[in-house]
Amino acid sequence: MIELLSVLALVATVVFLWRRNVIRVKRFQQTEMKGWPGKDANLILIGELLLIAGIFTMNGTDVLLQDLDPAHFPETGTLLVSDWLGPVLFGGLETNTLLLLERIGWWLHILVVLAFLLYLPVSKHLHILLAFPNTYFARLTPVGRMSNMPEIMREVKSMMGLTEESPDNVSEEIPEFGAGDVMQLSRRHLLAAYTCTECGRCTAECPANITGKKLSPRKVMMDVRDRVEEVGEKLRSGSREWIKEGTEEGEKLSVRNFDDGKNLFDYITPEELHACTSCNACVEACPVLINPLDIILEMRRYEILTLASGPSDWTPMFTSLENTGAVWQVNTDRDAWTESENTTA
Ligand code: SF4
Ligand code: SF4
Repeated sequence: MIELLSVLALVATVVFLWRRNVIRVKRFQQTEMKGWPGKDANLILIGELLLIAGIFTMNGTDVLLQDLDPAHFPETGTLLVSDWLGPVLFGGLETNTLLLLERIGWWLHILVVLAFLLYLPVSKHLHILLAFPNTYFARLTPVGRMSNMPEIMREVKSMMGLTEESPDNVSEEIPEFGAGDVMQLSRRHLLAAYTCTECGRCTAECPANITGKKLSPRKVMMDVRDRVEEVGEKLRSGSREWIKEGTEEGEKLSVRNFDDGKNLFDYITPEELHACTSCNACVEACPVLINPLDIILEMRRYEILTLASGPSDWTPMFTSLENTGAVWQVNTDRDAWTESENTTA
């Protein structure tokens, strides 16, 4: 079985390297894949090749040694590939050379496996572990259904006279809407950022990206992960340099009082956020059920509602919505026509 799987892995690895470096599939060549992300992918594929080379060197030489010295090398049974590949590659070599090659193969394969395990947490290949929990925790509601903000719902309901709630019950504290930094995103969002395989299927399907806009949903996920890394590193340092102004003297640095003067907007620009059409194509394209749109919406909410910022040409639409409940400036109630005598079924 291991030999069969190794052959399949070899074929897949060669195809993956070919697609990335020879055919140069477009989604692997986009801006966010320059530098480390591109190298990361190739590094792991080369590691895979070394691992397979180690396995076949070990097994191939073993097969010959079993024939030469059955007393020291007991028969291990049929090996699907090495039974014929071993004699082809190593036939005619001296016993000492075979022994040396067998040891090299053994150590190579075990060291590559160990190196791979150490490398996993600092690489995008962490997805081979996180894809399972991420899929388990993925949202099962229809992708187009946006989550409402309770505070806004309350306001809209009171505007429309749909609630009995007394204004005295409304909290004085001004709530924060959306997410301006990774601390305001949910754990599910952060898990998704670490699960991203950087395959670029989302970006390849994104109409904004296809039509030349700056937005790339893959970059959104990569940026969230990079910001989490940055925040994590600073928190681990424990330095008071990153503590929010006004924090009490003895209080230690923590997520609650962290402030390094930066936020997620230093990574993902408003220009990228505004280019999103909320079409959900990226969500449908993702093989591990990641939802980049969720994060884009959270950041837009923060920009518009908490920072009261956003493109100036959107302002008339907001004003109109607030005053008349319609995106176009209409002076009458939108549903007034339902009361009209001329209304036909
Ligand atoms: S929802 Fe936004 S980011 Fe996703 S594919 Fe559509 S335009 Fe692109
Ligand atoms: S399709 Fe999913 S896994 Fe692939 S880059 Fe986009 S978010 Fe990451």
